[in-house]
Amino acid sequence: MDAHRLLQQSTEFIKGVGAARAALLARELDIHTWEDVLYHFPFRYIDRRTFQKISEVHVQLGMVQLCGRLRDVVHSGTGRGQRLTAWLNDGTGEIPLVWFQGIDRLFGLLKLGQEYVVFGRPVAYRDELSMPHPEITPRDRFLEQGAGLSLYPVYPGTEKLRKNRIESRFFSQTTRFVLEKAHAGVSDYLPSEIRAHHRLLERQKAMWGIHHPQSEREAFESRHRLKFDELFYLQFGLVHNKIKRQSGSRGHRFGLVGEMVNSFYTHHLPFSLTEAQKRVIREIRSDMGTGRQMNRLLQGDVGSGKTIVALMAMLLAIDNGFQACLMAPTEVLAVQHEQSISELVRNMPVRVALLTGNVRAKERRALLQDLQAGEIHILVGTHALIEPPVVFAQLGLAIIDEQHRFGVAQRAALWAKNNPPPHVLVMTATPIPRTLAMTQYGDLDLSVIDELPAGRRPIMTRHVLDRQRLSVFQFLREQIALGRQIYIVYPMIEEGDDEQMKYLMDGYESVSRAFPVPDYQVSIVHGRMKPDDKQMEMQRFAAGKTNIMVATTVIEVGVNVPNASVMLVENAERFGLSQLHQLRGRVGRGAEQSYCLLMTANEPKGESIRRIEALCSTTDGFKIAEIDLQLRGPGDLTGTQQSGMLDLSLADLRTDEVLIAETRRAVEQLLSQYSDYSKPPLSLLLMGYQAQKSRHKNWGEIS
Ligand code: ADP
Ligand code: MG
Repeated sequence: MDAHRLLQQSTEFIKGVGAARAALLARELDIHTWEDVLYHFPFRYIDRRTFQKISEVHVQLGMVQLCGRLRDVVHSGTGRGQRLTAWLNDGTGEIPLVWFQGIDRLFGLLKLGQEYVVFGRPVAYRDELSMPHPEITPRDRFLEQGAGLSLYPVYPGTEKLRKNRIESRFFSQTTRFVLEKAHAGVSDYLPSEIRAHHRLLERQKAMWGIHHPQSEREAFESRHRLKFDELFYLQFGLVHNKIKRQSGSRGHRFGLVGEMVNSFYTHHLPFSLTEAQKRVIREIRSDMGTGRQMNRLLQGDVGSGKTIVALMAMLLAIDNGFQACLMAPTEVLAVQHEQSISELVRNMPVRVALLTGNVRAKERRALLQDLQAGEIHILVGTHALIEPPVVFAQLGLAIIDEQHRFGVAQRAALWAKNNPPPHVLVMTATPIPRTLAMTQYGDLDLSVIDELPAGRRPIMTRHVLDRQRLSVFQFLREQIALGRQIYIVYPMIEEGDDEQMKYLMDGYESVSRAFPVPDYQVSIVHGRMKPDDKQMEMQRFAAGKTNIMVATTVIEVGVNVPNASVMLVENAERFGLSQLHQLRGRVGRGAEQSYCLLMTANEPKGESIRRIEALCSTTDGFKIAEIDLQLRGPGDLTGTQQSGMLDLSLADLRTDEVLIAETRRAVEQLLSQYSDYSKPPLSLLLMGYQAQKSRHKNWGEIS
């Protein structure tokens, strides 16, 4: 069998694996083939040239290497309860080495007083350290073999695998087996000029070197090469798609600035636009005027005024005879968008409609009919918009608000709603660090609203403790007396969580007691309420009929009640940083001084204190996003699970900014030089891309 085919075989056929362990690997780590084994990379190495002092060993170290003499060897128990214990002493301390199998053979071999090198994982039982089943080699032999010269790779694994003795040593052995038999199957599609220019190892060498490095340098260079490929092909897909769309000239040309835009601008605009809003509108207009499809990411911190920009873009589409849609991540937000847009255009001949999962069948049918007949100009909704029965007469512009709840796949579903595809504007309130902009959104053009409307006062943010609750409530009363409104938000990580639900209801009760009717009105909104009830409560709060809104994070995104001036976050330590920033963004939307109070039960520890400090120290969303990226990594940054994001196995958006920029430049250069995908180098790179994509579930398709 040739090496490529070998790599596609089941792990069952690796020496020392077999059916049971193969099944376990598949279940625990999604490792099925020989090739999958190679792509299970070590995350660090243990230097086998050095020895740990026994006095400094603890379980958190994982694998450790020790050197000492055996003080005593004892064979105890009978039958299955047999064990062999050898006490290793290195002068700093002593640790028992324990075996439950292969006892007879070892018992004969181990010599008291002799020096041994021992390698294994210490465990603790009732504070007593021991080391089960270590590798043990007489020191002379260890030195002779040169075993002391190499680095020992440490692989990620699971508790279950460890129990079945599938750990680093296992992966080290299986990768060696696979590479010895089939390393020729590891293909390198990168042009040699690129390899030379970036001083990259050959891919086969790198695959050896990441699993079996002889030196730190080799380990580093091998990882670098494989990481380069990962980022390079990611950029290849992104830049390819971007160029394709830009040059494809398949896009509506919105050449006309007509009645809608003009009359809105002169008669209905409720305030004057900020310079940043004007600039962004110009960028969008010029995109949509070229006849190429727009794919633009609009970044603007919470409260920067993205809605009006979206509306102006939609009016431009209508002026040119097209429909537009606006997709929001939650029902609450969709409803609110629909209302505020309807309000803004109420004296204009523009028909706005709302479509969510809760629109009733009869209404829905009528709505879909009107939509298809072109009688609805602007359709606002949730992801119900991308479902197949939703057919537009002529969709010219699709806007996605608060993109971070949507994946790349949903974006693609919108493109498919019309032929040629609609212009796409993605709006996000989570400022995006450079590395994320180059990866997650690397196929989009970028516009930034970097200015808040005039007259906004920075929100004052304070950390308060639960025991200060009385004075906090007093402060809330003062604010209410001034005519302002209050949000009190409880964590609800999972909407179905009973314990959190109880906590929320307890909170609601105690707030209701502290703010009793008829002097105060308190609303509550959470995910388990019926949409209509939720809507009604939101409505009452927005209309100023209630003073306090007790809620979960359902109000996190986008909700706009300018009269609300205090955001009190309960158990603030449970929220992520950008989540807190989003929540804070719900206040400070009017001209009044606003406050954000982050309440915790006790003095918080660890990362939560850093999050709270970060929030108290700045209101700059960009700084917060950077800190968040550093603290939590990109997966959590946007509040989605890793699964919704690009997955990267080697690269780290926190630390690989330079390499990301470098690979992007390399790809841009190549794609400006070559365009024929049937010939090298692009034909090869396409294969390299496909190979990488098959290992990264959330990469976009090259089209
Ligand atoms: P976001 O960018 O968070 O979606 P919105 O579009 O909801 O922000 O706008 C936040 C608030 O600021 C709204 O009440 C909106 O009417 C107001 N606003 C937007 N632009 C301006 C402006 N140029 N001048 C004054 N107020 C503005
Ligand atoms: Mg918004």
